[in-house]
Amino acid sequence: MLASTGSATSPNDRFTWHGAEVETFSVIARDGAARAGILRTAHGEVRTPVFMPVGTKATVKSVDPEELRAVGAQLVLGNAYHLHLRPGDELIAGLGGLHAFMGWNGPILTDSGGFQVFSLRDTLLESDDEGVTFRSVYDGRSERFTPELVAEIQTRLGSDIAMCLDICLPAGVASAELEDAVRRTTLWAERQRQLPRAPGQLRFAISQGGLDDELRRRSSEELTRLDFDGYAIGGLSVGEERAQMFEAAARAASYLPEAKPRYFMGIGDPEGIVEVISQGVDMFDCVLPTRTARTGSALTWAGRINLRNARFARDSAPLDPDCGCPACMRFSRAYLRHLVNQQEILGLRLLSLHNLRFLIDLVASARAAVERGGLLAWKEDALSRLSSAGPEAP
Ligand SMILES: [Zn+2]
Repeated sequence: MLASTGSATSPNDRFTWHGAEVETFSVIARDGAARAGILRTAHGEVRTPVFMPVGTKATVKSVDPEELRAVGAQLVLGNAYHLHLRPGDELIAGLGGLHAFMGWNGPILTDSGGFQVFSLRDTLLESDDEGVTFRSVYDGRSERFTPELVAEIQTRLGSDIAMCLDICLPAGVASAELEDAVRRTTLWAERQRQLPRAPGQLRFAISQGGLDDELRRRSSEELTRLDFDGYAIGGLSVGEERAQMFEAAARAASYLPEAKPRYFMGIGDPEGIVEVISQGVDMFDCVLPTRTARTGSALTWAGRINLRNARFARDSAPLDPDCGCPACMRFSRAYLRHLVNQQEILGLRLLSLHNLRFLIDLVASARAAVERGGLLAWKEDALSRLSSAGPEAP
């Protein structure tokens, strides 16, 4: 276990580990803008770039933490909004904190809830410089989030990385609204930065500004001046055109400090992951692996497979012969298709494990390419294989 030497207000940029001081984040290899690094948290090291499975409600849907570990997950996400409302962060704290509660002893990052509050536009009641009032998605009751409460929730949960409360707007809003979101996000980050946190907890700020380059730069500079342990790129992947999103992400990453980890919030499709890694993003999360599994689809190196397709009815081959997940090691496409068609829980579980393993392996392969200085060739090959029609072709 690592002991933090950081005070409540300064970033935890050094840990004392077996008597020696080490950096919280080290970049160990670079290739173009891309980096391979190590992020040190109170619950262990994370090799970056890293795909983080989403466990919004203290569970990655249908997957046991032991299985998560087995498919190579290093860091899991929880969500302050959902856990505050159900079952309550005080209850979780009383049961020993989020790690003990969910049976995961590895690193946990908790999102602040800003995304939930502002993306569920019809539940939003009022937002001012002090905080934001909204109706709970659980019971419709009026709730209020402030930077102070969000810091407190994440301290009680005891996550390894806490996110600042931010204002995430959908694509296409008026620039005055976007500008005000940037201003308020900085204001809130400044307040949250002063507040106590859990032992060893790192704190990341979230840059905003949508596709507006000037606002994105301003947001990044203001937050960087406040000096956080890491920085997220928020307010993208919210409905804008994809090429524009990647352009904005590349610029947003370049505005953030070289020496700190960068987290792109909400990207998880294979092509998107490959793209943002090459732009210098170190961390990303998405519900895609488990959501895709619920539609009966599997991610593979030869494109996406929908197991509902009749062509798999008598297919005795594994989903992906190169994959080491339980679904591929032990079962045929025909059996998985049967489970999916009968809506058997095992089918959902196996496809979730496979999709998680696929993305985690993809990222590990990208990291290896960065380390040997061959990311460009790797990326070209990966994108061409992923976009091939694969087994879905007639
Ligand atoms: Zn597999």
